[in-house]
Amino acid sequence: MFSYRHSFHAGNHADVLKHITQIALLNSLKQKDKPFSYIDTHAGAGIYDLTSEEANKTGEHELGIGRTIHREFRSELVNQYVELSQTFYTDNLYPGSPMIAHQESRVSDKIHLMEWHNTEIGHLKRNLAKFDNVSVHHRDGFEGLLALLPPKPARGLVLIDPPYERIEEYQFVIDGVKKAIKKWPHGIFAIWYPLIIGSKNRAPKLLEGLADIPCKSQFVVEMQVSSDQAERGMYGSGMCVINPPWRSDEVLAEALEELTPVLQEQNAGQWRLNWSVTES
Ligand code: SAM
Repeated sequence: MFSYRHSFHAGNHADVLKHITQIALLNSLKQKDKPFSYIDTHAGAGIYDLTSEEANKTGEHELGIGRTIHREFRSELVNQYVELSQTFYTDNLYPGSPMIAHQESRVSDKIHLMEWHNTEIGHLKRNLAKFDNVSVHHRDGFEGLLALLPPKPARGLVLIDPPYERIEEYQFVIDGVKKAIKKWPHGIFAIWYPLIIGSKNRAPKLLEGLADIPCKSQFVVEMQVSSDQAERGMYGSGMCVINPPWRSDEVLAEALEELTPVLQEQNAGQWRLNWSVTES
């Protein structure tokens, strides 16, 4: 049913954007002692081997985490991401969003991971199920999300990171978030999406649908690393953050100002952060 395997792409520029956003949001949640819930609707394997045949085939990680891992940044957020990744990178591994959530959480926080792929779920269970505060669910992430809401603890973050293998997945995201936010109006939702060259670029329609969802506030952060006029492929990616915590936009802006020149190809790098819904 699914052909997408994240092992081909782990640690690429899109993972860098997604994972620094995830860490920024988890940092905000950790500012209070009260525990939080973290829900990953499309969790993947949890840890990726950068020496695998898949990773070597694309070499994408070399242009993402590979360019940041030995640098020091002014942005505390980027340094935190690099330090966390280094503990895995020394063993030729890259931490996926479930492992990042585990590393950045406390024992009292609750982590729910959902994965539907029959092979990936096995890897995910092996990598993450051993931790006391982690539950691994072999199920459809959109359906599982609604079943878990409102979660206990009642504050927290949902990461929605589908492969977008099928065009319908864009609509699934809009419909899923619309239903989810009704059940959990104060939850933070972070949705990843690709920027693809030409007519296959569904980002504008996705963002239009998400901006229509009733919420307190919402911003969109995007990083483009190569030209949108090139022949094919993903030239960047974005995250839409619904109900973002205070100052998360500022720390992300600081981070992207430094990261984009490091990750760009042929001077084509650009980033933007725009509020799509503001508090009235
Ligand atoms: N979030 C991960 C990370 O950052 O490390 C990467 C996830 S990868 C982009 C998307 C994953 O979603 C794949 O492992 C795929 O098997 C899984 N998947 C696809 N459709 C799904 C669905 N409906 N429900 C749950 N998982 C799904």
